[in-house]
Parts: sequence; structure tokens; C-alpha cells
Amino acid sequence: MNIRAVVLREIELSMKSPFVTHQGSLETRPLIIVEAHDAGGNIGYGEVTAFPAPFYTYETLTTAWYVLEQLLIPLLSTSSVHHPRDFAQLSEAVKGHPMAKAGLEGSLWDLYAKQRGVSLQSLIGGERTSVKAGAVLSLEDNLEGKLSVLKEEGYQRYKLKVEKGHERQMIETVQSLDPDLPIMIDANGQYEEKDIEGLYELDRYQMLMIEQPFAAGDFYLHQWLQKQMETPICLDESIMCFHDAVQAVQLDSCRVVNVKISRVGGLTAALNIHDYCQDHGVPVWCGGMVESGISKAHNLALASLPNFTIPGDLSSSERYFKRDLLTSGIKLEYGEIQVPQGPGIGVEVDDDYLHAITKKRYVANL
Ligand SMILES: [Mg+2]
Repeated sequence: MNIRAVVLREIELSMKSPFVTHQGSLETRPLIIVEAHDAGGNIGYGEVTAFPAPFYTYETLTTAWYVLEQLLIPLLSTSSVHHPRDFAQLSEAVKGHPMAKAGLEGSLWDLYAKQRGVSLQSLIGGERTSVKAGAVLSLEDNLEGKLSVLKEEGYQRYKLKVEKGHERQMIETVQSLDPDLPIMIDANGQYEEKDIEGLYELDRYQMLMIEQPFAAGDFYLHQWLQKQMETPICLDESIMCFHDAVQAVQLDSCRVVNVKISRVGGLTAALNIHDYCQDHGVPVWCGGMVESGISKAHNLALASLPNFTIPGDLSSSERYFKRDLLTSGIKLEYGEIQVPQGPGIGVEVDDDYLHAITKKRYVANL
């Protein structure tokens, strides 16, 4: 792939309002942007979407920076990489750290597509020209006010971040405002075995799904709950690699999978999970990490694949940030977002702004 340099940038985007879950609050969104430069002047962009603290998964921005600088980027100078999938294979030598891997692999996918003058979507076999968008409501949101704004913007699925013990109240508030709204809840693994009876009762709300009720590693409790519940269980934090998806589907621990490129270790793993779930009749949707337009563009290419039949956490650039990294933002129209068709991820990064907000930089010349 003729990669000459990899650049890491630590940046921070200002949030319009804090994003609050039971695990913590984001007032600003720090991220790592990864650039892969080739000899011809092309730049591929990737993004590490870990959080500052390990409240979602074990990775943090600090661990990702270390793993990228010390372990993953050096793989590119010691081995030949002809395709992003080669890097995915090479990086198996480093155990875990999927978000660090996904950030670098993402920059390689964008670069590879740009070198060939094709869109990332066409490179990976995406079909849809636009994808349906779904909104996420944080605990801080004023439900009534926020919902009417989001409905006007046309979002087609509504995910409520819930706090254990207050989930019914939140669901009932939303259903009293609009009984037909397609809703789901995301528990981020707050429940335990003793809560299982209470969870069965959530069937009566006829939600699209319940996301990640139990802790990440627990395929057993999810299987037990799914046996008793009609509402599909969706797994998020449990699926950290391709084999986790195989286990979840084979054990019937879930009937829907949330695919996040970053959490599963990169686009190669995400594509493999998509194909496996499609072959086994399990629909998938594309999750989000409160991330910049660079990740959003990667996500749109992925979500255009045929088994992404459920609206994902895909939103406009204006949804969370005061200013995004793109020269022209990702826009929602009538509840759908166009999949960028230009070379690579198909969006133009505002390099001046990216450079201006870079707080820390590392350059590896290969
Ligand atoms: Mg989730």
C-alpha cells in the first residue's frame, strides 16, 4: 500500500450538551484521529473511539495511544501490507485492544479505497444509497422537548439509555407521548441474575429490542433471558470480536447484533460478523460511539450492507457537536442519511480545523 507515514492526533470536540449514561457523562469528546499517508499524497483517516475512562469497555484513549505507537504502527514497517485485511491478520499478534486496531485499520481502508479511486462502500459491497437513522436519548435529555425535535428531523428508531430501577418510568413517559414510536432500551449491562423476573415483564412494552441487559462476558444469562422473552435481546458490549458473535448466535443469547467497527476490532471483523449473522438469519445494526464525522462516514459505508436492516445509531454531524471535523457535514434528510459516494470514506476532512484542535501528535515515518 506504499504507506509512508502514520500520524496520531489527540483532539477534543465540544459537545452541544452533555451526553449522560448511568456510567458517566461526556462534557467534551476526546478522540484519537489516525492518518495513513502514502507516497502519492493520499491520506486515509481512521478514528479511535475509546473513552477517557474504561466504563464502556476496558480500553481507554491512553491505552489505545500506547498500543498504536508501540505495537500496531511498527507492524506496518516490519511487514508488507497489500490490503487492509492483511493488517487485520497481522494485528492478531496483539491480544485485545480492538479500538486501537480499528482506528488504524480504518485509516488503511480509507487509504486503500482512495488509491483505487473507489468509494469505501463499493469496495466492501454496500448496496444502499442511503441508510435509516436512529437517535439515542441520554439520561440528561428532557424527553418531551428532545423527542419532538428528533421526530421532526425524521429519526426512525429511538434508543433510550436507561438507569436500572427507572427504566419503566422512562419507557412509559415516551410511550405516553407517542405510543407508536419505535423504541428500544440500552441497559449497558446493569442487570444481574436477580433482576431476571423483572426483565420478563418488559415484554409488555413491545419494544424493538433490549440492548445488553447483563454484563459483557455473560452469554449464559442472556441465553436464559432470551429463552423466556419475546422481545429480542441485542448484544453490544458482549461482541468484542468475530467469535463472540458466533457464540452469541449459536447459543441463542441474542437475536439482534449491534455491530460497532471499533468495538469488534475493525472493519474486517465487522464485515465477517455481518456475513455470519446474515447467513444465520440474525439482523444487525450499526452502533455509534458519540464520534466524529470520520467514524460516521465509515459507519455509513458499513450500514449500507444488506443485513443492516435496523436503523442504527447514525445521526447528523449537528446532533452532538458544536463543530465536526468535516468541511461539509453529514446530513439527515427525511430520516435517512446519504452514503458518501466519493473515493474512500467520501467526505472531506477539514484539515485546518483538525490541525488547530490537535492537542498531541505523534508521527511515525515508515
Ligand atoms: Mg449499547
